[in-house]
Amino acid sequence: MDNGHDPLPPSNAANVKAGGTMSRRRFLHASAAATGAAVWAAACNGANAAELVPGGADGEVMGYTDTEMLPWAPEYHKHDPNRPWPTDIDPGELTHPEEPAALPPSDAIVLFDGEDTSAFQPHDWEIENGVLVAYEEDIVTRESFGDCQLHLEWMAPDPPRGGLTDRGNSGVFMMGRYEIQIFDSYTEKIYPDGIAGAIYGETPPMVHPIRPPGQWNSYDILFTTPVFENGEVIRPATVTMHFNGILVHYNQVIYGPTDWRDIAEYEPHPPEGPLRLQEHSNPVRFRNIWIRPMENLKDMVPIRDWPV
Ligand code: MG
Repeated sequence: MDNGHDPLPPSNAANVKAGGTMSRRRFLHASAAATGAAVWAAACNGANAAELVPGGADGEVMGYTDTEMLPWAPEYHKHDPNRPWPTDIDPGELTHPEEPAALPPSDAIVLFDGEDTSAFQPHDWEIENGVLVAYEEDIVTRESFGDCQLHLEWMAPDPPRGGLTDRGNSGVFMMGRYEIQIFDSYTEKIYPDGIAGAIYGETPPMVHPIRPPGQWNSYDILFTTPVFENGEVIRPATVTMHFNGILVHYNQVIYGPTDWRDIAEYEPHPPEGPLRLQEHSNPVRFRNIWIRPMENLKDMVPIRDWPV
């Protein structure tokens, strides 16, 4: 690209000598994690409250070990804190962070341009200085989409806000059902299938190229819809995705609805669905949201690792 907005090369690019692991501040420590777990457990549903437990190489990752094993990754529980944390990648700094990372192309449907939110059904999210701020409820597009290319940019609050499960938490729900996670996993260590860039509850990103709170991140998503026949899924949804320009999913199968804790199976739904942006008790910011419907992109996308 030559729009002057490209980030510098990532730290793991072939021509960059620096190591791939960024130094990061640690906002989370054991006592805070324990407090967060207790609060979350209490907030759930009493006697059957789910409990987050620590795990990971350094004991700082919070997740669940009382959930089912994943059929597609049978060594791990759903939301397993001990699933490997993807390598942290510094994606490089935006040369012009105040400007969008990728301007809408001429054939895109612009969903948010800094001024107009009428592409979404009525909602209470507000625009602050050209930026859309998550508030109190999910927002859903008026229009529905099938196979598509989606671009959006998001920023977690700085200083970080929210407890263990709210920290910079939002999400992009393709067809209103399949969540690509948005989360401040720069400052908060949550189960790897719930970090930024994860297909929520299913597949972590290949690497973790997140920027710190207060800086813009970009998602570029190629999505193909599931296909149903006689009440059964005959082809799953897939995602190819760049996160801050870094490939994090490649023709990755989505194994079903991206529920919290439960492993859900596909249920038939229309071939198109609206885009939904999640509100999760955190004022995550958005800018420059556009989508390009791509009829039958799936004809060009092979399926692998399916069925499981
Ligand atoms: Mg979310």
